[in-house]
Amino acid sequence: MIIVFRTNEEAQRVVNKLIALGMQNVFVHLNRVAIAGYKQVQDLPQSIQADLPTDIEIELAPANAVQVSRAFHPEDTVIKTKHSTIGGDHLTIIAGPDSIENSAHIDYMAQTVKELGSTILRGGSFKPRTNPYSFQGLGKTGLVYHREAADTAELDMMTEIMSTQDFDLVDEYTDIFQVGARNMQNFSLLKVLGQQMKPVGLKRGMSATIDDLLNAAEYIMAYGNPNVFLIERGIRTFDAKYTRNTLDVMAVPVLRELTHLPILVDSSHATGKRNLVIPGARAAVAAGAQGLMFEIHEQPDAAFVDGAQAITPTVLAEALPGIRQIHDLVEE
Ligand code: PEP
Ligand code: MN
Repeated sequence: MIIVFRTNEEAQRVVNKLIALGMQNVFVHLNRVAIAGYKQVQDLPQSIQADLPTDIEIELAPANAVQVSRAFHPEDTVIKTKHSTIGGDHLTIIAGPDSIENSAHIDYMAQTVKELGSTILRGGSFKPRTNPYSFQGLGKTGLVYHREAADTAELDMMTEIMSTQDFDLVDEYTDIFQVGARNMQNFSLLKVLGQQMKPVGLKRGMSATIDDLLNAAEYIMAYGNPNVFLIERGIRTFDAKYTRNTLDVMAVPVLRELTHLPILVDSSHATGKRNLVIPGARAAVAAGAQGLMFEIHEQPDAAFVDGAQAITPTVLAEALPGIRQIHDLVEE
């Protein structure tokens, strides 16, 4: 439940009282107070009810995920990193290979990503592979190469973390944590990422509902980290013959309405086919996406992982001006 007061002072006064009464999961943002687990004023302690001004408004958060909700925090969250702005009316471009392959390759990718005007260099060193015998990523060596490449090209580094056990290691190198679709509901991991302040790019699980995604983001915020952005990356549907996943385009406007967190789309994983990546990206931006993630490779068929969906830097360079135009049109 979110109570909207006339003034910030009124909100703060009621919050102080709720906390003094020992109530937990109470949050304040300007003139709004969120109380997780409550749906109506009648359920609050009598002394609070008696003390509430008459001209308040009550709003309900989707799935009771209060801190992520726009009802609690009407303005867009904008996350600033050394090289990037994520959220608001910015279009953030994240690009890079699926995986760090070797030092020279990620250096080359970094230069290319820089030339494309992207500010975030993606790449996995801990890979969530379906098959245990497939390439699992270079681990620490990959993180070292990735960091060096990002620093030389003056880009932010974003990489996936799969387990709480890897936290100290990945944290030593990365600027932005990626939580993959398969770990969206790894609640232990979400709690750990909530207890530090680096941005977290949270991918939607392949069978996760929008409420599941919002609650996963709420976990990170509940533990103290407000720097979360969401990434729609396609969901499993009945027809996977022509696409790897189904890009849930309508998740974008729905999420923009429900949450203040930045909404990005990874059209590479959502489509899984290189000829569909750009159409998917255009659709995402037309629907209101505030950023895009692309897997790129100069020799897509030679990519260690996910070559079928990798596009060349040239293809991306040709498409980006049009994508930016669509974004500007939508933002007008
Ligand atoms: C990736 O970004 O390479 C990846 C594994 O993505 P997802 O978690 O969306 O499958
Ligand atoms: Mn991939």
